Amino acid sequence: MTERSRETRESIAAIDISRSYRGKGLLFLLSAALLILGCRPRLLPLPLLPASVPPPGIESFIVGRSVEGRPIECVAAGEAGDVLLIIASIHGDETGGTPLVRHLIKVLEARRDLVRSRRVVVIPEANPDGVARRSRHNARGIDLNRNFDTPNWSPGRRAGEIPFSEPESRAIAMVIRTFRPDRIVSIHEPLGCIDYDGHGEAMAMGIAEYSDLPVRKLGGRPGSLGSYAGVDKGIPTITLELPPGASEVPSRVLWEAYGTLLLSAVRYPDPVRELEISGFFRNHPH
Ligand SMILES: [Zn+2]
Repeated sequence: MTERSRETRESIAAIDISRSYRGKGLLFLLSAALLILGCRPRLLPLPLLPASVPPPGIESFIVGRSVEGRPIECVAAGEAGDVLLIIASIHGDETGGTPLVRHLIKVLEARRDLVRSRRVVVIPEANPDGVARRSRHNARGIDLNRNFDTPNWSPGRRAGEIPFSEPESRAIAMVIRTFRPDRIVSIHEPLGCIDYDGHGEAMAMGIAEYSDLPVRKLGGRPGSLGSYAGVDKGIPTITLELPPGASEVPSRVLWEAYGTLLLSAVRYPDPVRELEISGFFRNHPH
């Protein structure tokens, strides 16, 4: 780990941990007041704890725990500057994005030049309990992609009792707040298209050139990540819908089909040259 990345990592952890300690008494009073007043709970700062020791140039954090206590990992590659956040497996039965982003991190680890003046932040498994049980929902039966605090949030069996009732959606929001991404890509399946929210159309059109997936506007869903980040926060947000069966495809095949598309999201609005990725898988088997 370089001195700089270690310092960055420690400073991020220190900021959040110190915030959580410093504000403890106040937060208790605030929580009690909110409880009495019946208000929605606000997002409380969570400490970013270092995960397993990452390779040089890569930072890894545990940014929260699922309902069943599984760690929610966040991996960051590259320097400061333009920040792209990629989220995979927010729906636990749509897991094709997880091997894709894990391989992307390996590529960026080997090819630092691709993230010069850029930072790529990845949540490889946003809904680990759902993944463990091959369910769209988390362990409490909530659709995390309906649980974000948005003006269009509406109550329902799958939306949670209140916005941000679930630790997994809170962890994602905390990552957004901490890393302040310029763009977001959330990977789903099986609709086989590139959808966007907020000002994401230009990026959707740009990255669509690197795959056979069409751009299709699916429409905002209440309480979704697209509504929260794309519409409310104005962060161009792409919903990358992989085709049916993507979860079952070997990761090598997935990367060959969609690796360039992901790299185009990293490099956007710059182009991806063919030589930047060709042959990578042969030399770095997954
Ligand atoms: Zn989905």
